[in-house]
Amino acid sequence: MHSLAALFREVGSPLSVERIKLDPPQPTEILVRLAAVGLCRTDYHVMRGERRVAMRPMVLGHEGAGIVEQIGAAVSGIEIGDHVVLTFIPGCGRCHWCAQGLHHLCAEGPRITQGPQLDGSYRRRDSGGAEVGAFCMVGAFSERTVVDQASVVVIDRDIPLDLAALVACGVPAGVGAARYRARVKPGDSVLVVGCGGDGMNVVQGARLCGATKIIAADIVPAKLDWAREFGATDGVSARGETLTRAVLELTDGIGVDHAFVCIDPPETLLPAFRATAKAGNVVITALTPDTVTSIGISPLELFVSQKAIMGAVYGFASPRLQIPELLALYRTGGLKLGELITRRYGLDDINRGYADLDAGKNLRGVVVF
Ligand SMILES: [Zn+2]
Ligand SMILES: [Zn+2]
Repeated sequence: MHSLAALFREVGSPLSVERIKLDPPQPTEILVRLAAVGLCRTDYHVMRGERRVAMRPMVLGHEGAGIVEQIGAAVSGIEIGDHVVLTFIPGCGRCHWCAQGLHHLCAEGPRITQGPQLDGSYRRRDSGGAEVGAFCMVGAFSERTVVDQASVVVIDRDIPLDLAALVACGVPAGVGAARYRARVKPGDSVLVVGCGGDGMNVVQGARLCGATKIIAADIVPAKLDWAREFGATDGVSARGETLTRAVLELTDGIGVDHAFVCIDPPETLLPAFRATAKAGNVVITALTPDTVTSIGISPLELFVSQKAIMGAVYGFASPRLQIPELLALYRTGGLKLGELITRRYGLDDINRGYADLDAGKNLRGVVVF
């Protein structure tokens, strides 16, 4: 079968929207018709060469949701017609981590930038017959995709699929970082640096955890207004030492209990670290370009301040746990999803979506099929 897809062909060039050939699912795979896919900054890092992938062309896109159209003979627990959210790390179910339910740490995770399916082969070819990779083993910038059953979570059919797509990446990344990594407690103070897809969800995650002071920091003023709607109590439009000073002023010179670095860690980690209270947590949720290999924090300062610096991928909890949990929170009104979507685009218009992301116009742009 054929599918229209957005391919990454050249670093620094727009995505190429082309018709590709898609092979049917193998025994443990399923064919999914995409309904919606979010425009996450991670794909943009790939397009700009800041996050290297092993091959081109590759279908990007990893924040997708859709409907199952075909299943392989060995698939279990998934049926034709099921609504699914794609997960950007497969949960193989067999490794040291998956055996403990920690699918976000799956041993197969490092392979998601390689291109092939989980079984090592390819399902996609371009019009010239060249093999085409699938970013994160999902390749969701495509009308249809074939993925291993390890890369999906089945959801209830009444959840709108454009909202369901958001819980594939940005929402768990942010909400989970507050709930599962920092373990924000009622009454805590929080700083969120960078109020995009991840950061805005850290804001709402901190609100759900009962934080009483939530300081949003972003250099785009509109994002500070949005952050207030998601639960921020204060907004700071500053960077570097100015940001640190502003946060210390807002916290009686003590600093916040938890700081979240949700954009550009090379620039924002040190100011966030210094705006954190002694014994506080600094959580990194954002990608750093491959070309940056170190960040200067003095070991003595780390030692005497007794702070913890930690990473959180996928909100530091299994998507199989978080996705149903987040959708239940949405159902009871505790979690904002529709409010996260700024604009919807057709697949043909995907590059305009990324231009809008780059210009800071979108909280989340979503391609709808
Ligand atoms: Zn993402
Ligand atoms: Zn695994």
